[in-house]
Amino acid sequence: MTRWAWVIDQTRCIGCHACTTACKSENDVPVGVFRTWVKNVEVGTFPDVKRHFAVLRCNHCAEPPCVDVCPVTAMYQRPDGLVDFDHNACIGCKACMQACPYDAIYMDPDSNTAAKCNFCSHRVDEGLLPSCVVVCPEEALLFGDLEDPTSKVSRALKENRVTVRRAEQGTRPHAFYIGAHDATLDPLAARHDATYMWSDRGAKDERMRVPPARKPLPMAPPAPPARVAYDVPRQRAWGWPVSSYIWTKGIAAGLGILAGVGQYVDIGVSRTAVQLIAPIVAIVFLGITGGLLVGDLKRPERFWTILTRPQWKSWLARGAFIIAAYGAALVVWLALAIFADGAGLNGLAPVLIILAALTAGYTAPLLGQCEARDLWQTPLLLPHLIAHALLAGLAVVILVASNAETTTGVRAVFVILLLVTGSLSLIDAVKRHQTLNATAAAQALTRGAQSRFFWLALLVGVALPAILALAGGASLLIVAAALSLAGLWLHGHAFILAGQGPPIS
Ligand code: SF4
Repeated sequence: MTRWAWVIDQTRCIGCHACTTACKSENDVPVGVFRTWVKNVEVGTFPDVKRHFAVLRCNHCAEPPCVDVCPVTAMYQRPDGLVDFDHNACIGCKACMQACPYDAIYMDPDSNTAAKCNFCSHRVDEGLLPSCVVVCPEEALLFGDLEDPTSKVSRALKENRVTVRRAEQGTRPHAFYIGAHDATLDPLAARHDATYMWSDRGAKDERMRVPPARKPLPMAPPAPPARVAYDVPRQRAWGWPVSSYIWTKGIAAGLGILAGVGQYVDIGVSRTAVQLIAPIVAIVFLGITGGLLVGDLKRPERFWTILTRPQWKSWLARGAFIIAAYGAALVVWLALAIFADGAGLNGLAPVLIILAALTAGYTAPLLGQCEARDLWQTPLLLPHLIAHALLAGLAVVILVASNAETTTGVRAVFVILLLVTGSLSLIDAVKRHQTLNATAAAQALTRGAQSRFFWLALLVGVALPAILALAGGASLLIVAAALSLAGLWLHGHAFILAGQGPPIS
């Protein structure tokens, strides 16, 4: 069985960018995006400075997270190890960009679908070499079959010490580097300035928003100063629609849990609120959630293919089915409340609670599949999302169920949920993180680009509502509920943006 791989010999690379150009020409790669590029890093202090190169591209990982997260099998792994993509299947969800820990994937601005290096599969299948290998004047790029002991890559691996990019990610990359300087392969080892040699970084490139290294990161090893002298711009894949989806989905899920629980025990609001108002508002917010999800796709007209050709390992695909099932349960709930005078709701309540909890929580494993974003790998995310949903649902109940129906018990639960979500947010931001990437992202939350959202969320969305709720009075509780909803959105937004801040290439 063939197993294709790269060996990239940085001791031979002269940084001529011929591979980049040949790749663009061979694969019609549009202006502004790259399947392969040559990162330049200058290491040392003037006059003792040396420039190092690293040719970066897809590693054709043996365990590719981009494939696992893709909801429609648009990103797939062939038996020969080649990780390829299908323009005709991609829905443009950008999850693969969040999963690849090497910045290898871009959205093709012409087709609005994901693309990356695919070993020039159209050439390889014809027995030809990838175009970058052919054009390299120094034979710095080797391509071949790892299973063939006589191939150039097998011999190079036998004769040289090699390294891979970010081995700690566990993806088992099949691009092996000879003689690459650590500062070129470790995305956080070198300083990223706002400008590069010959170019600006690009206003939308979020990597410049990483907090400046006022202090070395706590886990950073001592190293000579290094700065990125040339790189390619990268844009953030997910923005406010994803933050808003987490928020609207939380409200919809929280209302379902409260409706289900309220069917059995007195949660301090009326039967009408439990059986009619909560599910109606939940359906509205679930609809907005669907709208946000579809609207954020680069190919929204293909959204239905998540349901017709799901890739079952993907939590994006699983989530679509969970949301659909929850929506159906809400509609049945409402129908029973309206047309059967509530008969059957006792039996439906546990189902509604489970589906609502799954709707709230599935985003935790989904963000967990985004292997490029270490901040999102936190084990606190699942409890945080459940608490977030409960708080959001209760806040909406307080807002729509009118002050006359809110009791001391509701007020107490509201304050407890505020404190739980606030504490989880704070702990996640200030705890010791396992990787430099997560540490840098958490610093972006507490003192970097997203700190204004983060602290506003805690002060105006947690502390102030808690004080108002404890102060008593129906109108103050309503204000507190509105503020808590604003705080939940602000925190979610800060969390989503901060996770994408640290450079990964
Ligand atoms: Fe390539 Fe990135 Fe997928 Fe690995 S995770 S196969 S580097 S696109």
